[in-house]
Amino acid sequence: MGKVYLTGAGPGDIELLTVKALRVVKEADVIIYDHLANPDILKEAKSGCDFIYVGKEEGHHILPQDKINEVIYQNALKHDIVVRLKGGDPLVFGRGGEEAKYLREHGVDYEFIPGITSAISVPAYAGIPVTHRGVSVSFKVITGHEAPNKRNSQIDWQSLKSNGTIVFLMGLHNIKNIAKKLIEIGRDANTPVAVISRGTTKEQRVVVGNLGDIYDKVTLTKLPTPALIVVGDVVKFRKELKWFKSDKI
Ligand code: SAH
Repeated sequence: MGKVYLTGAGPGDIELLTVKALRVVKEADVIIYDHLANPDILKEAKSGCDFIYVGKEEGHHILPQDKINEVIYQNALKHDIVVRLKGGDPLVFGRGGEEAKYLREHGVDYEFIPGITSAISVPAYAGIPVTHRGVSVSFKVITGHEAPNKRNSQIDWQSLKSNGTIVFLMGLHNIKNIAKKLIEIGRDANTPVAVISRGTTKEQRVVVGNLGDIYDKVTLTKLPTPALIVVGDVVKFRKELKWFKSDKI
């Protein structure tokens, strides 16, 4: 029985892969990867390493999660070193916990290898610090996948009234509703918002607006996924702190 490494691939820029992740990628007998993991990472694998794509694009699953769990398990029966490579961090909206639970139940040994999550690094590449002394003393990372008016919502919208930073992942298609809901609960329509697409890569695009106009701006620019949304006064720092060469718009 092999060992499974539930590994974060970082947000896109290959140099944001951890030293530990790179080591297991080089040693792997098989790498089971998602569409968010930078495919250049696979070039680091040894010759003879197998690659299995189980990616999902925006709500469009190549394989359902229970099948992915099974693929990982079956590979652990056949190989010594199995790397399960996921975009960003495996435990931030990465379902790494579910995969670990399945492996534990089936007696398979595993390790988590944390990755640099897009939630913090993508704003950084757009020149936006998620916290800043005197401006924002907290940040929340929230799924933008859930329709804001859904009954039995798991998101405590009222808790988003205070002026800390909010980062929405998986929210591009829902941005109109998210902005509307935040205004409804009492956030000022002038609250700055940045939408960052394909962050940390040479295709990075950033659209800046406010809760009142961000939907129109994003629609005009037709930003591609993956993209995340940053809400809060920290977005203003982009003007001064922008640094990434490939950064467009
Ligand atoms: N585990 C991942 C998140 C998975 S959810 C992590 O820790 O980063 C997928 C969402 O992450 C996307 O819908 C998008 O909102 C965000 N995301 C991931 N990579 C991104 C990137 N390079 N640029 C912008 N958003 C990204």
